[in-house]
Amino acid sequence: MPGDFDTIKERVDIVAFIGERVPLKRAGKVYKGLCPFHSEKTPSFQVDPERRNYHCFSCDEKGDIFTFVEKMDNLDKSEALRMLAERAGVELVRRAPEDKEREDRLRRLMETALFYFRQGLRSPDHGKSASAYLARRGMSPETIEKFGLGYAPELWDGLLVYLKKKGFTEAEGITAGLLRTGDRGVYDWFRGRLIVPIKDARGKVIAFGGRTMRADQQPKYVNSPNTPLFNKSATLYALDVARAAIRSEGAAVIVEGYFDAIAAHQAGIANVVASMGTALTSEQYLRLQDMKIERVVVAFDGDPAGQRSAERRGRDLLPLLQRHSGRAGSGQVGTRGFASLYVTVLPDGMDPDDLARADPARLRSLIAEASSLLDFLIGKIRERSQLEGSEGRLRFLDEVAELLAAEPDPMRREVYLSTVAGNTGIDPALLRKRVDASLAAPKKAPTAPRASGQAPEMSDDEPETPQMKQTPLQERYVMALLVRFPEEIARVDLEPDDLVDPDLRALLTHLQTGDRSLSDLPAQLAATAAALSASAQGPGEEADPGQAIEIAAQRLRVQRLRDRLEHVRAELARVGDGDVGELALEVQQLATELVTAMARVQRRTVLHGGTERRENE
Ligand SMILES: [Zn+2]
Repeated sequence: MPGDFDTIKERVDIVAFIGERVPLKRAGKVYKGLCPFHSEKTPSFQVDPERRNYHCFSCDEKGDIFTFVEKMDNLDKSEALRMLAERAGVELVRRAPEDKEREDRLRRLMETALFYFRQGLRSPDHGKSASAYLARRGMSPETIEKFGLGYAPELWDGLLVYLKKKGFTEAEGITAGLLRTGDRGVYDWFRGRLIVPIKDARGKVIAFGGRTMRADQQPKYVNSPNTPLFNKSATLYALDVARAAIRSEGAAVIVEGYFDAIAAHQAGIANVVASMGTALTSEQYLRLQDMKIERVVVAFDGDPAGQRSAERRGRDLLPLLQRHSGRAGSGQVGTRGFASLYVTVLPDGMDPDDLARADPARLRSLIAEASSLLDFLIGKIRERSQLEGSEGRLRFLDEVAELLAAEPDPMRREVYLSTVAGNTGIDPALLRKRVDASLAAPKKAPTAPRASGQAPEMSDDEPETPQMKQTPLQERYVMALLVRFPEEIARVDLEPDDLVDPDLRALLTHLQTGDRSLSDLPAQLAATAAALSASAQGPGEEADPGQAIEIAAQRLRVQRLRDRLEHVRAELARVGDGDVGELALEVQQLATELVTAMARVQRRTVLHGGTERRENE
């Protein structure tokens, strides 16, 4: 659908996206780099963020993000679409004309319902108490207008009757999440509640939230269920009104409830959106991500429950940090890709709504002074560890080490490590040791490789061959480095399956068990290790062998994924019209995995080449 392509192009920043694979430098309005499609020494490849396209002036390759991934990753059109849709958080629906018509009607139905709710608030019969309630909460008429607030009268079937009158069916109302079926027939889902329309980034109503105004009405909030228009975990409330401010400030603030966001906007803090429930989902984060921002500040409520659960909720954000390694603020294309996570806890007994009304300046400064997620969590651990006692220090050390091991960026990890050590007087070497142990721990010793092929032990039966020569160079290089620096094993994201050579596989498995001595290896493996060790070149000008290994291993991973992708594609072609569903899915998964792995290589490489590039900023 053309609409999908446009939405995706709008959401995915082409400079950040291509910059993940091709180091780019700004040159006026465009960005330049070495063309990935032909080999060259001076950059003739350029990316134009405004036109959302790229062009190589030497080989004349050109196109948009779609053609880029199609060519780079050898994907077909629909694969490229699916991959980019996932990245953009766009849910693809294969729309036949009648589906399109159905969706259009659903959108009109939502607008109709919005009109009904807004009338409800204005109605002298029904809306009085709701209006009074909003006034008590300090909502100005402009705010009520801007956010389209409404009221669902305390009627069993008020909306139902209205929708029917406007030509919609009960079934459509149910699909839209506005009507329900019960013992007594179809009825309104929202009754006697304040209504907050939830809009997509373009300001179209896709769902509603309803808040009770009475203490005896439970639950306090009800939402539309997920519908064809509404995916709760990918939606940020108020993004349509906050968008411009988020872009211009390069930062977004995440609060929990609609009214928190509304109150913040009314207080003039315009870059606030609400996550509607959880702290922040991965999909929500990616949405913000594609707005090219640098900071995401999550504000936790200061009520007793919020205070108590702040640490746990901070920990819930850790996977986001791991998945999307935060390294914002470096100003480099390619690494600027990911926004850093910050956390702030509001003062005792306050939620953002209260604070925005009572003391907006305070809210502003709390947002500005938010701690990075790791700092925040380290602080929490410190608060509850008795650092004066040895036991407390040990516990602190253990917990912090585990936390630091979650930081995917080795450089940032090192920075945190020194800071924590400095602040607590803990020996940095001791802390580093613990971190290394934590890094190694979660990687369970792998069992036999999953490949359906031979198990590594079987290779003992094979004659000692010049097989080594046929081993792909890249995997020899990685393993040679690992034999020289076995202590770096924990940093290597490799599975035995990623290696073709059975001996190297067995060697990797051995190293991953944590046994770093090479003396007790079976004879053949010992010989392999010795050969590798002899052939090993140093990691070149790379100062840190660990980083060299990391990059080499990632490259190998990319290569392996490419091979598998090609293999599965060939299989897919062979099977033809048969049962291809699973194969097609595998192709898609591999393609996605490949892109992630490539992005990781690119980020690592850019990170290390960072100093030269920064001079050009
Ligand atoms: Zn070119």
